[in-house]
Amino acid sequence: MNPKAVQKLSYGVYIVSSKKEGKINGQIANTVFQITSEPPTLAVSINKLNLTHEYIKESRVFTVSVLSKEAPMTLIGNFGFKSGRDIDKFKEVKFRQGVTGAPIVEEKTIAYLECKVIDSIDVITHTVFIGQIIECDTIGEEEPMTYAYYHQIKGGKSPKTAPTYVKEEAKEVKKDRYTCKVCGYIYDPERGDPDSGIKPGTAFEDLPEGWTCPICGASKNEFEKAG
Ligand code: FE
Repeated sequence: MNPKAVQKLSYGVYIVSSKKEGKINGQIANTVFQITSEPPTLAVSINKLNLTHEYIKESRVFTVSVLSKEAPMTLIGNFGFKSGRDIDKFKEVKFRQGVTGAPIVEEKTIAYLECKVIDSIDVITHTVFIGQIIECDTIGEEEPMTYAYYHQIKGGKSPKTAPTYVKEEAKEVKKDRYTCKVCGYIYDPERGDPDSGIKPGTAFEDLPEGWTCPICGASKNEFEKAG
């Protein structure tokens, strides 16, 4: 088996959210697919360790917010590299509650889908939830973010709990790059960090002291020289 074959599959980048006893939570997911049109159903694969898994299992509802290419790394980091057990992920995020009561993200979101769970499949580390779409709409015209765009253009990483996580092999890395020890994000001076106003060509040493990892929010001293 050549593991590179599965890396040729394409995905999007979504925020899957749910609720439980008046509380709400959401997480980044790339494995969201429409599987039938009549009735309209989606499948989503969620790691059993994630809080959103617990919420979906309990409330039997979830929403999918489709992110645009314009979504900043801070938004993706908030939902993808932090846990709702530690923070309120929606505290600083514009959202509304849909007909299911689960939250719909209204920042850099171009469409949303609300689902009620009609079935689920246990796949050891994850559960695949099958949801019937009960409400959906478009709210923006920008292009959707793809998983490839997130990785190649935005320099994004995947947490170990992602369904498509692959352990990265040691690659030859230019020595002026720095890696976040918390989430694996690599600061590349050639790219800078435009989401935080850092221009391309800015050396790591020249980043302002208050600069933090655009994905997980770790401070500068949590970085180490790459390679
Ligand atoms: Fe980080």
